[in-house]
Amino acid sequence: LAPTSYYFTQPREARLLLRKRDRFSNKGSFGHALLLVGSYGKIGAAILAARACLRSGVGLLTVQVPQCGYTILQTVVPEAMCRPDGNQNVLTGIAPADQPGKQGPALTDYSAIGIGPGIGKAPETLVMLKNLLPTLKKPIVVDADALNLLSENRELLNQLPPNSILTPHPKEFERLTKKWANDYQKLDLLREFAQKYRVVVVLKGAYSAVATPDGDIHFNSTGNPGLSTGGTGDVLTGILTSLLAQGYDPVEAAVLGVFAHGLAGDRVAEQRGPIGMTASDVIDALRWE
Ligand code: AMP
Ligand code: MG
Repeated sequence: LAPTSYYFTQPREARLLLRKRDRFSNKGSFGHALLLVGSYGKIGAAILAARACLRSGVGLLTVQVPQCGYTILQTVVPEAMCRPDGNQNVLTGIAPADQPGKQGPALTDYSAIGIGPGIGKAPETLVMLKNLLPTLKKPIVVDADALNLLSENRELLNQLPPNSILTPHPKEFERLTKKWANDYQKLDLLREFAQKYRVVVVLKGAYSAVATPDGDIHFNSTGNPGLSTGGTGDVLTGILTSLLAQGYDPVEAAVLGVFAHGLAGDRVAEQRGPIGMTASDVIDALRWE
């Protein structure tokens, strides 16, 4: 293994990464993100990821959800375009039979893709992932059940586009690797995994650790236990997909996005205390400055 450098992301580091907006910009300047999210009973995850993506500065957002999520998404997130999947309850990546040619751009035409929040592990969704990965030429964001599908179909790990960002919580990371005996071993597993598959891995929790494909580790300084509640991870996926779509380098996107997510959680905790924080509060507290 190559030697590791350790970093600690504080306000100064984050501010240096944040890009200023050009006065003569337009929505085309900030990318077009695609989120592949949601399943029956988990359309909330799609909504959270979508709203966080928009609140992080993306130019355009398209969300593909199963048909059961179509009306919900169009109502709750009017700023997002929606690609209804052909399936009622889970993502298949296949267009509805009555509009095969009308789905808009090919999946690979988007500036960045985020996949996972709320998708479940249906066989059809695994097929979608299997079909999607070999076509990709740009890094993607992989979270939640998309990570679990990778753990259960390990040959797919080698097909991830280089520099993709994976965002496991500890249990998801354990499924991707193995049980660790202590925190030192956990960090070793993290570095080894990121280097082996040439991906950026965000191991989430207090002091989230961002491991780079070169084996460096950036610990995050923001965030608090109020974030330990359903949906906050989906928010992070929206943020990171937004930053990738805007053209941030994947390591920079991960470091900056994780910092901004934690800082938003800290703002919520300051204003109303850490207990009872919701993922929607975190989205509303995002500030890019
Ligand atoms: P998930 O488990 O996928 O919903 O993701 C949870 C999110 O909340 C991640 O971004 C974690 O880093 C964050 N989080 C959860 N617990 C804590 C904690 N105790 N301190 C800081 N961040 C946390
Ligand atoms: Mg999660």
